[in-house]
Amino acid sequence: MTEALYFNAHCHLELSHLRGAVPPGLAFVDWLSHIVTLKRSRSPEESRAAAADAIRELSQSGTGAVLDIDAMGTGNAALRDAKFPAISFTEIIDFDPALGAWAVDQTMERQREYGDLPDTLRLGISPHAPYTTTPRLLRAAASKAAEYRQWLCIHAAETPEETEMFVGGTGALHDYLRDVAVLPPGWKPPEMRPVAYLNAMGVLGPRTLLAHLNDINDDDLRTLREKQTRAVVCPGTHVYFDRGEFPLRRLLDTGIPTYIGTDSLASNEALNMAREVELAAALSPGLDRKRIEECASWERAADFGFDV
Ligand SMILES: [Zn+2]
Repeated sequence: MTEALYFNAHCHLELSHLRGAVPPGLAFVDWLSHIVTLKRSRSPEESRAAAADAIRELSQSGTGAVLDIDAMGTGNAALRDAKFPAISFTEIIDFDPALGAWAVDQTMERQREYGDLPDTLRLGISPHAPYTTTPRLLRAAASKAAEYRQWLCIHAAETPEETEMFVGGTGALHDYLRDVAVLPPGWKPPEMRPVAYLNAMGVLGPRTLLAHLNDINDDDLRTLREKQTRAVVCPGTHVYFDRGEFPLRRLLDTGIPTYIGTDSLASNEALNMAREVELAAALSPGLDRKRIEECASWERAADFGFDV
């Protein structure tokens, strides 16, 4: 392995087999719909093999530790053989309001089935996003994370469509989830922005990492700061979706501990943190380059208990 230079705080190794499968330029909801179909059409073996290649790519480009989201088990399996340490966040997606606590229990059972893990691999819990979970699920996940001393990672405020769904119960994301019949019948919006909603569910805190946070306002920033919640931004994905303002400067100026991640190869061209730093700098004109490099630096892995 090359020298550890970077800490990659957000990745989905198990989606590495989808590199280049969906061309950039689609709206988030259209991308999501492509990914769901593609994931179903490819085998776990393809995912596992691509995840192993992706681990080599991370290693060769100087990544010394990674925080990875694990929905299918293939990323977790590949990480057992990685030469660098990782936290594998077991993902939970369940919209059924009756099954929230059960879904979290099932997730803990999945973790038990992983058996003994190498010393380099720890587990975390990832309720996917406000729009793919329920209040009961989020509360149960927070409680299990505290009980098992695991970190939480949640995708949050990624798009304006997410905010629109949560504030007003309308918009493209809401309509997509309704049309594919995963939104529970009679679902009502909490009439809160995603960060405020997650706060009301009790999932924010110093051991919670929120991914993306593209659509945030000053109230959201204040809440994140008060709760000492951590943030990870993903420059490559930001460019892929051609999103608006990159949130890095506002997060740093508010004093939010912020990291950088590659996200997955389904919405990024490479798993190379040096490239992410370049992209973050291009997306943040005027922001001191040193502050950007710090967000991606290997030393920051210590915040998550890695031995740097
Ligand atoms: Zn992600």
